[in-house]
Amino acid sequence: MENHSELFYALSHDALSDGPEVKRRAAMAQFLPLMRDMAMDEFGAFEELRQHVKRVRQHTLDNLDYYLARFELEATNNGNQVHFASDGAELNSIVLDICQQHNARRVAKGKSMVTEETGLNHYLERGGLDVVETDLGEYIVQQAGETPSHIVGPALHKSRESIRDLFLEKHALGERELNEPADIVAEARRVLRETFLTADVGIIGANALVADTGYSMLVTNEGNGDLCANLPSVLIVCTTLDRLLPRGEDASAMQRLLVRSATGQPQTCYTSFYSGPRREDDSDGPLETHIVLLDNERTDILASDYREVLQCIRCGACMNHCPIFAAVGGHSYGSVYPGPVGSVLTPLLSSLEQAEALPNACTSCGRCAEVCPADIPLPDLLRDLRHDLSEQKVTPRRWRFGMRLHAFVAARPGLYRALTNLGFGLLARLGRKKGSFQHLPLAGGWTSARDFPAPQGKTFMAQYQARQAIDE
Ligand code: SF4
Repeated sequence: MENHSELFYALSHDALSDGPEVKRRAAMAQFLPLMRDMAMDEFGAFEELRQHVKRVRQHTLDNLDYYLARFELEATNNGNQVHFASDGAELNSIVLDICQQHNARRVAKGKSMVTEETGLNHYLERGGLDVVETDLGEYIVQQAGETPSHIVGPALHKSRESIRDLFLEKHALGERELNEPADIVAEARRVLRETFLTADVGIIGANALVADTGYSMLVTNEGNGDLCANLPSVLIVCTTLDRLLPRGEDASAMQRLLVRSATGQPQTCYTSFYSGPRREDDSDGPLETHIVLLDNERTDILASDYREVLQCIRCGACMNHCPIFAAVGGHSYGSVYPGPVGSVLTPLLSSLEQAEALPNACTSCGRCAEVCPADIPLPDLLRDLRHDLSEQKVTPRRWRFGMRLHAFVAARPGLYRALTNLGFGLLARLGRKKGSFQHLPLAGGWTSARDFPAPQGKTFMAQYQARQAIDE
């Protein structure tokens, strides 16, 4: 996928102008956290398991060389061919080579953020292949010529009506109408069944790679991953190095947190472990299997101060709880990974210059860190990125000047109080009549969308001191 994160402000502005979409996003922002909270309350062991998963993820990342070598050995012993890709271009070319070696014409694809990251679909299509996304949400966005807006629910941004209209436009439906959600799903199933039965190659992602068995684990709710993995004669698993876990029980522990955090379900409909190609006494399964492990900056991130972001298990809870994501939606981020984790990851995968707006797309409310099942300190990482932006002079000069001025004043309590008293008094006097300001110098970002209230009463510090004097 092409990265457009430099357009964050413009895309957000457009997103905020779309009234019905704003309402839909607000409703989702209520519903998804509610589902997660109910699942966690019922589960009751969130913090213990979270700390366990965090320790396992940190341990694996600390010993990535060992676990990578172990996984490669075990996966190869199981009959897989393991490939390493240093960047997206290399992954794409490895996958196209495999497809061409088998004279493939059609590819059935399961949901995979990694292949979104590398732009695999377009690359294969340019190579003459017919690539069909088989996850319902991914299929919908593919039909619409769009990209996923959420890492768990790719088509969360689309209404039922817009999906019906899309299918009416793209499918030869004859007399049939698609007024009920079940009709829409049945229509997608009809088309995808044909894809599963005719695909030469299946491509899927992996939620985890298990080092001691060489297995890859995939969780889905639709079972399309299993059909992609088992019906075509060639299977290609595309994933990143940081998906590694030491043992099967670690994958199981992670999965219990992943599913509850992502959709509020106690369990997904399908959790599958893929070992390798069909064995002699197996009745079905692929004849040849490949696993492509992508680095794409991960080893550099591992060596940096931002390594904790690699603990991410891609549950999407941080975006479900983020007020910025709820307001502007996933597409505004202009990158594969939106929301808080995307605001950390995107600048590291692309550049600080290109993704300059993203670390600032944060209210520092801390909800993302509270719900993250891998206990990643996302607000701290975002703040560190802002520091880097300023240090490397990527932040606009006027911002840096403003922050330096603020730091100067904030470090001198007497001066700070004198200036806030002065500003407070001035604003209170000027705004007394109307009660608010529609325009205010240096606050255009605020007043363009809402009025700025005129200060009432006394400053916080004055009230605090007065209360302390009474208490004494
Ligand atoms: S950063 Fe945490 S909450 Fe966000 S997707 Fe990753 S694991 Fe989930």
